[in-house]
Amino acid sequence: MNQLGILGGMSWESTASYYRLLNQGVRQSLGGLHSAPLLLHSVDFAGIAALQKAGDWEAAGRLLAEAAQGLQRAGAGALLLATNTMHKVAPAIEAAVEIPLLHIGDAVGQALQRRGVRKAALLGTRFTLLEDFYRGRLAERFGIEVLIQPLAQIEEIDRVIFAELCQGRFQADARAFYLECLEQLRARGAEVAILGCTEIGLLLENVAAPLALLDSTELHVAMGLEWLLADA
Ligand code: GLU
Repeated sequence: MNQLGILGGMSWESTASYYRLLNQGVRQSLGGLHSAPLLLHSVDFAGIAALQKAGDWEAAGRLLAEAAQGLQRAGAGALLLATNTMHKVAPAIEAAVEIPLLHIGDAVGQALQRRGVRKAALLGTRFTLLEDFYRGRLAERFGIEVLIQPLAQIEEIDRVIFAELCQGRFQADARAFYLECLEQLRARGAEVAILGCTEIGLLLENVAAPLALLDSTELHVAMGLEWLLADA
C-alpha cells in the first residue's frame, strides 16, 4: 500500500478521528491485520491558532509547508491536511511539495455533487465561513451555493470551536445552539449541512438534525482511503 501523510493536530481531537477512521477503512477493505500506512506530523495547535488570530497566514503556511516537505521526505505519496480552516494556506503547501494534497473542499464538493445538492448550509470557523478559499472552491468547482449564519451567530459558532471542541469539550448547550443554526439555515433553503470543521462531527455524533449532515472529516478520510487503496 501507498503511505499517506497527515498534517494534523489542528486539533488533535479530530486528528484522532482521522487515525481511527483511516485504519477502520483499511481493515474493512482488506480485512485481517491490515491497517493504514500513515505518516503523521502533528503540530502544537496553540502556535497555529495564534498565527490565525494575528492574521499571519504566511507564517502558518510556511510552517505547514515545511511539515509537508518532511512528510514527503519520509516517504508519503500524498497528503491530507486534517483541518478545513488551514486549507486557506493549501497553495503554499502545494507549492512546497511534489506529492498531491488531497483537498478537503474537493472531498466535500464531490459528495454534494453526487447527491445533486445545489444549496448547502455550512458550519465552521469564522475563517472558513467568511473567506473565499472554501466557499469559493465549492461555488466555482461544484456549483454549490453555500448558506451561512449572520455574523453574531458565526462568532458564537467560532467561539465554540476554539474554546470547547478543540479542547475536547462537547457540551449539550453547544449542540443545541448548532442544531438551532441548522434549523434556521434549513428554513432559508439549505438542502443539507456541511460540517466544515473537523471537530463538529464529534459534537453532533448520533443526534437527530434538521438536515442531513455531511461531515468533512468522514468525506476527507474517504478520499484518503480511495488514494491509499488504489493499488492495494
Ligand atoms: N479543525 C477545524 C477545521 O476543520 C478548526 C481548527 C483550525 O483552525 O484549524 O477548520
